[in-house]
Amino acid sequence: MTNRAATRNFFNYRPNQITFFTFLVALLITQGIALRTYIVEKENEFLQVKQEAINIRNQFESSLNHSINATKILAFLVEKDLSEKYFETISRKLLAQNKYIDALQLVKDKEIIKTYPIKGNESTIGYSIMNDSVHKREAMKAIERKELYFEGPIPLKQGGMGIVGRLPIYKEGIFWGFSAVIIRIQTLFSAIGVDDAGSNEAYSYQLVKRDKNPGEDGLLFKNQLDYAQGMHYRVYVSSGDWDVYVKLKNSAYFSNAIQFSLLGLVFSLLLTIFTWHLAMQPQKLKIHVQEKTRDLDELNKVLENRAHELSAINKELEQFAYVASHDLQEPLRMVTNFLSQLEKKYNTVLDEKGKQYIYFAVNGAHRMRGIILDILEFSRVGKYEGTPEKIDLNAMTDELCLIQQKVIEEKQASIHYANLPVITFFLSPIQQVFQNLIVNALKYSKADVAPQIRITATDLGSEWQFAVKDNGIGIAEEYVEKIFIIFQRLHTAEEYSGTGVGLAIVKKIIENFGGHIWVESKIGVGSTFYFTLPKKI
Ligand code: ADP
Repeated sequence: MTNRAATRNFFNYRPNQITFFTFLVALLITQGIALRTYIVEKENEFLQVKQEAINIRNQFESSLNHSINATKILAFLVEKDLSEKYFETISRKLLAQNKYIDALQLVKDKEIIKTYPIKGNESTIGYSIMNDSVHKREAMKAIERKELYFEGPIPLKQGGMGIVGRLPIYKEGIFWGFSAVIIRIQTLFSAIGVDDAGSNEAYSYQLVKRDKNPGEDGLLFKNQLDYAQGMHYRVYVSSGDWDVYVKLKNSAYFSNAIQFSLLGLVFSLLLTIFTWHLAMQPQKLKIHVQEKTRDLDELNKVLENRAHELSAINKELEQFAYVASHDLQEPLRMVTNFLSQLEKKYNTVLDEKGKQYIYFAVNGAHRMRGIILDILEFSRVGKYEGTPEKIDLNAMTDELCLIQQKVIEEKQASIHYANLPVITFFLSPIQQVFQNLIVNALKYSKADVAPQIRITATDLGSEWQFAVKDNGIGIAEEYVEKIFIIFQRLHTAEEYSGTGVGLAIVKKIIENFGGHIWVESKIGVGSTFYFTLPKKI
């Protein structure tokens, strides 16, 4: 009950409401998915970049770790006064083992006193690192931290760019100088697998010194990327106080989400158009039905008016027929009476011709009376008194046959009927129908053939179908409709008596109760009159 009410309510919405609702829902769903795509893809890309940043830092730190060992060994040589003797030998071995170190140095106090390999690095000997403010600041940081600390990227004294790592050395608790490593930037790039522009297929990189002086570049890679924008991640490398930035080259999460969002919008619009079209159908249908209903109502009214007019005319006609036939009886009786008296009084005076005229006149008057009585009966059809009663048609037919006993005997007719049903009906009209049909079957028999009449009934569900079959003279094909019209006769009164009203009365009775009557016949073979009657009247 609730469901049906809900369904009805939904269809009661106007098309623009349904359409707007559909658009809203479709838009919400598609844009929701677009937003979800945006969030998930962004998160995904961020995790990728973060992972790459951690990888690159690990790679970077592991390549710098070699320098820690090398500078510690050189510091040990200085502390044990073995540097003069073994610097070169040890340095050679250290460089041979560590491909990520380009040169090793000893800085006494502020001055570079030893460099390995010396070839190509001659200019470094005697160079005082404290002359340059940047070198000085970075060297001081190493002293503060008391561990290996990198300066750079800087232009190297011996040419090219690189980073310099310094480990402060203390001899008997007093600052002596530094052991240092020099790593050219090309060496560094190959250690971390990046070109000098700081990029590979998927990512671009940048390494930035944190506390660089104003105007100082402090960038490792030569790219102009705005490394702190877009999808990037920053990691810190403490041994040089560097920030390493990793940035995704082709970040797609935003454009993907925008694309999806636009597609969603287009889809929602298409769905909206489609829904509008669908939603308009019931409306169109409703209008169509309303128009048709209006037309039908108008037609109904016209028909109703016609029916009223017809029934009024019919009533008038019936009334007229009744009054006319009723009123005509009296003058007719007078004519018959006077004719009889005329015949009686002037019997002796009248010659044969005169008597014959009187006879014809009386005969005509009798026939006219018959016609008038038939019209009276015809006009009374439909006016039944009382209520329907149970009628055993077998018993009723018995009685009708008794009435026709004389004719039956004369013509040696046989009438067969059995198993006729018991029906609930008005007695007088059903009697009239059966009587007329039986009388006709007896009347229109062949002169030298005894009439054989068979009455049967068939159950058609909601109605009964009856058949009255004879072996009489039959009816020509062209008259099978005509015989049901009042006063239509196929024979003269001399051939067969009658007025041509019987079948018209039968038809009127049957149709009054919603039934039908028709005849199937063959000249010289016989006729079967069929009629139906509803079981419920
Ligand atoms: P009536 O019998 O008074 O002439 P009906 O209305 O009963 O009038 O019949 C009309 C005409 O139909 C008859 O004149 C007759 O020609 C034809 N008719 C009726 N019943 C039969 C029948 N069983 N066989 C042949 N003709 C028939």
